[in-house]
Amino acid sequence: MTTLGTSPVPTIICPAWCSVTQSTHQRELRWEGRALHWSDARTGEGWEVRHTSATDADGHPIDTQPKVYVTSNGGLTLAGAEALALTLLATYEEASD
Ligand SMILES: [Zn+2]
Repeated sequence: MTTLGTSPVPTIICPAWCSVTQSTHQRELRWEGRALHWSDARTGEGWEVRHTSATDADGHPIDTQPKVYVTSNGGLTLAGAEALALTLLATYEEASD
């Protein structure tokens, strides 16, 4: 097979939980040299949890550590806090897989 001087567009290998499109990852790889995988947000009353990890095109981790992002608005009810705690633990387990 011959190529005509254009490099092939790589298919980025994502973790199962990644919700980012291939075209976004391809842009990231081109401009930043790594793909940043984002999970879907898990949400509750007044809070949201997501996590990320950065890899190269083959899915190999890049030096940055996986991160968990927690956003909350104002005070949480006790039920909301309990739901957040359980969700945060589940998110941690998925992120550290
Ligand atoms: Zn991804």
